[in-house]
Amino acid sequence: MSNPSNETEWYQQSVEETARLLDTSPHDGLSEAEAARRLQQYGFNELIDRGGKSPWKILLEQLTGIMTVVLVIAGVISFILGDKEDAIAILAIIVLNTALGFSQEYRAEKAMAALKKMSAPLVKVRREGHTREISSREVVPGDVVLLEAGNLIPADGRLAEAVNLRIQEAVLTGESEPVEKITAPIAKEHPPLGDQRNRAFMGTLVTYGRGALIVTATGMRTELGKIAEMLQTVGQEKTPMQKRLEQLARTLALAALGIVVIVFGLGILRGEDIRLMFLTAVSMAVAAIPEGLPTVVTIGLALGAQSMLKRNALIRKLPAVETLGSVTTICSDKTGTLTENRMTVTVLDVANYELDLKEQMQNFSPRVRRDQVEPVLRENGAIPLVLTAGALCNDAVLEADPRRPDEYTSVGDPTEGALVIAAARAGLWKEELEQIFPRAAELPFDSERKRMTTVHRVPQSALPDLYAGFFAEGREPYIAFTKGSVDGMLEVSTAVWVEGKIVPMDDHWRERIRQSNDKLARGGMRVLGMAYRLRSSDAVNAADDPLESGLIFLGMAAMMDPARPEVFDAVQTAKQAGIRPIMITGDHPLTALAIARELGIAASERVITGAELARMDVPALAQAVKEVSVFARVSPEHKLKIVEALQSNGEIVAMTGDGVNDAPALKKADIGVAMGITGTDVSKEAADMVLLDDNFATIVAAVEEGRRIYENIRKFIRYTLGSNLGEILVVLGAPFLGMPIPLTPLQILWVNLVTDGLPGLALTVEQAERGTMRRPPHPPRENVFARGLWGNIFYAGFMMTVLTLIVAYSAWSMGLEAWRTMAFTTLTLAQMGNALALRTGSESVFREGFFKNRAMIGAVLLTFVLQLAVVYVPFLQPFFATQALTAAELGVCLLANAAMFGLVELEKRLRR
Ligand code: ATP
Repeated sequence: MSNPSNETEWYQQSVEETARLLDTSPHDGLSEAEAARRLQQYGFNELIDRGGKSPWKILLEQLTGIMTVVLVIAGVISFILGDKEDAIAILAIIVLNTALGFSQEYRAEKAMAALKKMSAPLVKVRREGHTREISSREVVPGDVVLLEAGNLIPADGRLAEAVNLRIQEAVLTGESEPVEKITAPIAKEHPPLGDQRNRAFMGTLVTYGRGALIVTATGMRTELGKIAEMLQTVGQEKTPMQKRLEQLARTLALAALGIVVIVFGLGILRGEDIRLMFLTAVSMAVAAIPEGLPTVVTIGLALGAQSMLKRNALIRKLPAVETLGSVTTICSDKTGTLTENRMTVTVLDVANYELDLKEQMQNFSPRVRRDQVEPVLRENGAIPLVLTAGALCNDAVLEADPRRPDEYTSVGDPTEGALVIAAARAGLWKEELEQIFPRAAELPFDSERKRMTTVHRVPQSALPDLYAGFFAEGREPYIAFTKGSVDGMLEVSTAVWVEGKIVPMDDHWRERIRQSNDKLARGGMRVLGMAYRLRSSDAVNAADDPLESGLIFLGMAAMMDPARPEVFDAVQTAKQAGIRPIMITGDHPLTALAIARELGIAASERVITGAELARMDVPALAQAVKEVSVFARVSPEHKLKIVEALQSNGEIVAMTGDGVNDAPALKKADIGVAMGITGTDVSKEAADMVLLDDNFATIVAAVEEGRRIYENIRKFIRYTLGSNLGEILVVLGAPFLGMPIPLTPLQILWVNLVTDGLPGLALTVEQAERGTMRRPPHPPRENVFARGLWGNIFYAGFMMTVLTLIVAYSAWSMGLEAWRTMAFTTLTLAQMGNALALRTGSESVFREGFFKNRAMIGAVLLTFVLQLAVVYVPFLQPFFATQALTAAELGVCLLANAAMFGLVELEKRLRR
């Protein structure tokens, strides 16, 4: 292969020449071996991300953090004043602190980067003659990428096929109007990108039609890659909680300054040693600043995102983790989210004949065998015509199962797959049908029209008898097949095929078709109508005679799509948790209601249709959404209106979507949810969360995780601020009892370091409490400190102080030499007692299981061991001004630990 680059004027080359230059085949693509080789040569198809922080940057930020700076100044002053030991100890604290802060930030960054990588979209490529799905990162020059509406173009390339293909290239050209694409070479010299209509560029998006693209450049060699430097300015969005905590950290930093002044001033007035007072004041300032708080929140959220991933919910935007906890309404699509999207044609209905196939379809088996022809499907002459129309007006294909080569399954949209399989069971194989009636043009399906049309050439030669019915009234060079929602088909059909005759569509027939349709829909089935029309040309947009008009209605196919078994329970869980599930579907109202009832979603018998919705204004809709939980025949733009109506009622809305047009609603919703399997790239791009299994139950699981994480972060805040308050109050309170300051500066720094560290982090991995999904969502715009958090913090801080001062005062007045060490140890252990108790918000820790959080038990034990080391290891004693405690003295400190635990448990009990 000659070296592909953007130097070649690809737009001037023919498709064949492009393929030759890139040593590939538009039809078969590359071989896997060659693709692997090129991946080696050209690297992953990705833009080099400069958004993330490098370890150096994290380190630098740690070293320039306000707390480090304060400590450095304190260390330098100590050193200058000749206090070598303090200076060394402060240095050690700085190192430990930086290490802790660094590892926290680094973990948070890593977790974020992992999430980003996960969200690389999948693309369809042709390789070795087959269609494969690969990660867009693995696309190489020479790959043939298949494009359809909703795709993001994964790399730059030359179009080999383009059927009604329209691409929106605003990222590159700024032009928001989609460009109609072609495949023919362009003779001009250096046309601007927007005029290179036979090429497609990375990062642009397909809004309509389909195509195939021969990749010419990947990664940083693409047009987008060239300007990538400019695009990589996107900062990480901060969550409301993060913002609030950063604000708090700033306020507390100011408060810290105040404390420094007060403590220092008071000390001097009392005639204390200036050096000691200076260091004490600085240490207290350090204790007062909850530096780690915002980082721990990030870690908590990022770890939360990882645990959500284990439950199949991929978080794309970190704030979603936080918002998920307060979701009050989940608006869900029906097909594939509430149901399995395993469609099987179970009833065929034509004029004067209905064929129920439930038995023949062998438990809804989605496969078909070559030799298997169901005779019933050939008994009535209209059925094969309906099946032929359904199979030809269709983009799904049959592929042999590699393990069982005589069995075929469908690939593509399940609705279409069901039709292809049903036809094959009648001996009408799509491939063979297309040889007889080759496709000449098409009008793709879209969820506004809710139908699709293909135009086929009619052969000049004799046709099998089977199809004679289409040409009862003569032949034309083309035949168009349309399939779509029955209500819509009735609007564009003017005749009905009745036992070989074409009769006008009068009220009688219209009513009959409608009744059959409703009956089938009431059974929870999706019903599609099939129609045809002979045409003299294959023009798709003849203004005077639109393709989808004057059709001859052939009949209907009804398909079953079973509800997902796990959704029933998920709906119950959601309701118990005060979250309302709402169904929004493009399907028929009766089909929607039947499934909604089965799943327990329908709150009333009322269904609002898209047509009604269109007539309502937002206030009227806001009133209606309070009662109605099922919306049917809805188009994507209606979804936006529903979100707005719900939000105007104060609801926090999660909304699912999969199509190109769903993007605005997903963006507007508080949590936009895209489908991992069936969703378009555009919808994923717009979403906050992607369901890897397309399953409604996963949304509920993610909400549960969101609530758990939110509560855990609150526990962490409660713990950290309570501890900090305790440290400060002990130092401030002692002089009022007439005793000297009980803690040395280094002891203060130590307590702050060890307690904020491990036990705090252990709180963020606490499991969900029992009642998590049995209480209503916390109020949407709630302050993190709401529901008595400040009260909890002050209570814990005061109790810690009281316990420490009681121990310190008694020991001091008894003249015990180790009274300071006892105060120091009591404070540390009281904090451990606090950590152990506030693992649960209001329940007793024993109900949840005292040893359930292993990380917490480990963290507490480790902290205890470290404290013993500081107290008993002779080498450390001079630094921390500690003395070995007797067993009795240590016992007293441990008692204080137990007392602290008991006091917090008592508070919970009183609150209950
Ligand atoms: P939900 O919103 O519950 O997920 P959906 O997204 O599958 O449903 P659409 O795909 O918009 O809904 O389909 C709406 C209607 O369009 C269907 O009820 C059906 O009548 C019709 N329809 C769906 N798929 C096709 C298709 N491939 N060809 C023709 N008509 C279709």
